[in-house]
Amino acid sequence: MSHPNFPNLFTPLDLGFTTLSNRVLMGSMHTGLEDRDATGEQLAAYFLERAKGGVGLIVTGGVYPNKESGNGAPIHKGSFGWMDSDDAIPIHAHVTSAVHQTDTKICLQLLHTGRYAYSPDCVAPSPIKSPISPFPPKELDEEGIEKQIADFVSASVRAQKAGYDGVEIMGSEGYFLNQFIVTHTNKRTDRWGGSYENRIRLPIEVVRRVREAVGTDFIIIYRLSMIDLVPDGSTFEEVVQLAKAIERAGATIINTGIGWHEARIPTIATSVPRRAWTWVTKKLMGHVSIPVITSNRINTPQVAEDVLADGCADMVSMARPFLADAEFMAKAKNGQSALIAPCIGCNQACLDHVFSMKTSSCLVNPRACYETDLSYEPAAIAKSVAIVGAGPAGLATALVAAERGHKVTLFDRATELGGQLNIAKMVPGKEEFFGLIDYYAAQMADLGVELRLGTNADVAALKGFDEVVVATGVTPRDPGIEGQDGPNVLSYIDVLKNGTPVGKRVAVIGAGGIGFDVAEFLVHEGKSPAEDLDLWKREWGVGDPAETRGGLRTEGPQPHASPRQVTLLQRKKQKLGKGLGKTTGWIHRAALKMKDVVEIAGVNYERIDSDGLHISYGEARENPTLLAVDTIVLCAGQLPERSLADALEAAGITPHVIGGADVAAELDAKRAINQGSRLAAAF
Ligand code: NAP
Ligand code: SF4
Repeated sequence: MSHPNFPNLFTPLDLGFTTLSNRVLMGSMHTGLEDRDATGEQLAAYFLERAKGGVGLIVTGGVYPNKESGNGAPIHKGSFGWMDSDDAIPIHAHVTSAVHQTDTKICLQLLHTGRYAYSPDCVAPSPIKSPISPFPPKELDEEGIEKQIADFVSASVRAQKAGYDGVEIMGSEGYFLNQFIVTHTNKRTDRWGGSYENRIRLPIEVVRRVREAVGTDFIIIYRLSMIDLVPDGSTFEEVVQLAKAIERAGATIINTGIGWHEARIPTIATSVPRRAWTWVTKKLMGHVSIPVITSNRINTPQVAEDVLADGCADMVSMARPFLADAEFMAKAKNGQSALIAPCIGCNQACLDHVFSMKTSSCLVNPRACYETDLSYEPAAIAKSVAIVGAGPAGLATALVAAERGHKVTLFDRATELGGQLNIAKMVPGKEEFFGLIDYYAAQMADLGVELRLGTNADVAALKGFDEVVVATGVTPRDPGIEGQDGPNVLSYIDVLKNGTPVGKRVAVIGAGGIGFDVAEFLVHEGKSPAEDLDLWKREWGVGDPAETRGGLRTEGPQPHASPRQVTLLQRKKQKLGKGLGKTTGWIHRAALKMKDVVEIAGVNYERIDSDGLHISYGEARENPTLLAVDTIVLCAGQLPERSLADALEAAGITPHVIGGADVAAELDAKRAINQGSRLAAAF
C-alpha cells in the first residue's frame, strides 16, 4: 500500500538483482572520519544510525582508489579513506556489516580527485593547475591512464569483498574523470583528448571495466556532471551522449553532479533555492532507461516527494539532511515530519569543518559524526530544569533535557521562540531559519516542555529548580561614537527585527557576520532570490546547458539593482569578511560586490552628525572624510547578557551559563546548540 503523504518517496525501487526500500539516497559526504577512523568503528556507528532511520541507499564519503588520487597528508594513510590495498577490506567490512543489520543498502564512493588532490603527486589529463589547489598536476601518459583504470577496478573488487552492495564512481564536481571530459582541463591530442568521443573515453572505460570485474549483481552508480558551471563546460547534448554511453558501459544508476568545485556559482549553500537544480536532472529523464537520481538543496520530505511527483528523477539524493537528522525517513514515514531537524544549508559544521581539516558535525545536531562519544541516554533521576532564554542555546538544552526525561520549563522575555534566530531569518537567503524555529516549536510541544514566554524570569521565579540554565544571549556592543544617539542611527535589531525604515544611502558600522547580514538585507528589495528560482538564476548567471556551454549565461550575472547605496566599514585593516564561513564567505562577499556595496577597512569613526558619518584612516587619523549617508547602522559586535546570571549567583544559586551569555565573541548558533546539547546530555 502506498504511503498516504509521500507515495512516491516510499515506493521501492527494483534494480533487477536487488531492491531499494525507498527512493532516497543518502548522498556521499566527506565527514573527516574517513581520514581518522582507522578501524571503521566510528563510521559504522554513524552509518548504522542512518540505516536504522530507514534510508534506502547510502553512499559513503569519497574513498581514494590509489595514492595519487587523494590527499597526500600522512594522517590519511591506513584509514577508511583509502581502498588501495587489501588491508582496507576489514575496516570497510565493519561498516557494511553494521548497515546490513537493516534493510538499507550501501555503496562505496570511489573518488579520484585528479588535479584537486592536495598533494604534489597529483595527476590530471593536462598539467593545468586548478584555481583551488596549490599543486600543479602531472600529465598522465598512456601507461599512467591505464594504471588509474586498473586501480578503479581493483578498488571496486575490494569494495565487493568488503560487502558493499555497489560503488559510486565519482565523475562530476570537477574531479579526475570530469577533468578529462571538458576542454577547460583536457588539452590532450591522443585518444584521451581532442574530440568529445575521446574525452569521454576514460569514464566509459572505467565503468565498463569495473562492470566486467564485479559481475552483474553489483550496483554501479555513476555521478555525472549535468551542469558544469565552468567555462567550456559540457553542453546538454554532450551530457546526454555521455549518460547513454555510461548506461551501455554497465552503470546501474546515474546520479547528478552540479557544478565544479571551482565554479563561482553557489550550488548547495542556504541562499540557493530549494531543489534549485532538479530541472537539470529532469532534462535527462527519458534519455536513459536506468534510474536517475537528482540532488542538491532538497531538505524536507515534502520537497523530495514533489521532486519525484514532478518527474524530475527516479530517486532523490539528500546528504546533509542526514547529518541533521538520522531519523529523517522514519519520522517522515510515521507522520512526524515536523519533528525532523532541518538541514539549513549553512555548511558551518559540515563542509566548513572538513575544509578546515576538522571532523564534520551538524549545526542542528552535534551528535552527527560523534555517535560514539555523545549520547542522550534516559536520565537516571528526572530533575526539574529551568532554562532562561529561548534562543538556540536554550532551545537545544530544553530539547535534549526533555528528551532524556527531565521536566523542563523554558522562559523567555520575548513572546516567540528563537531568540537571535528571529533576526537571522529576516535576511534574504537565510529563510531556512524559519524552518529551524518551527522545528524547535514542534519539539517543545511534543516533548511537553513548559513554555513561559513573555515572562521576565527573576531570581524568585527560579528558586526550587534542580538545575538552572542561563541562556540569556547577548546585547549589542556600544561602540561609543560621538553622535550615535542621533535620529539617523539605528541598531541591527531596529533594521532586521523592528522593520525601522532605512534611508537610501547607508553606512554599516562593523563587518562581522551581522554587518554582512544587514548589508545583504539592505541591498535587496521585493522577493528574496532564494525563494524565486528564475530570479536567483539570473542573479548568478545560470543558464540552460542546452543553450549555453556549462550552463553559464554569456551575459554573466544580472543582479537586481540595489535599492540603496551601502557602505560597509571596519576598523581592522584586513579584507572584510575574513571571519565568515570557510565555504560560504565567498558567496556573501560576491553577493555584496554584485550590488556595488563599498567596503572600507582601516577606519576610525570620528563622529556622526546630520551630514552623515565622519571617518578618518589609520593610527594617525589621516584623510578625514565625510560619508554623506542618511542612515548609519551599528553592527559593532555583541556582549554577554549576564545580569540574570550575576543576580542568581548573588542569591546563592549557581546557574549553568551557556551560549552568548557565556561567551559572546564569535558566537554562532553552532556553538550555542552544541554547548546546550552537551550540557543537557550531562544533567
Ligand atoms: P563580529 O563578527 O564579532 O563582528 C563585530 C564587528 O564589529 C567587527 O566588524 C568589528 O570590526 C566591529 N567592532 C567591534 N568592536 C567595535 C567597536 N568598539 N566599534 C566599532 N566597531 C567595532 O560580531 P557580529 O557581527 O555581531 O557577529 C556575531 C554574530 O553574528 C553571532 O551572534 C552570529 O550568530 C552571527 N552571525 C554569524 C554568521 C556566520 O557566518 N558565522 C553570519 C551572520 C551572523 P573592527 O573591530 O575591525 O571594527
Ligand atoms: Fe546542514 Fe548546516 Fe548541519 Fe551542514 S551544519 S548538515 S549545512 S544544518
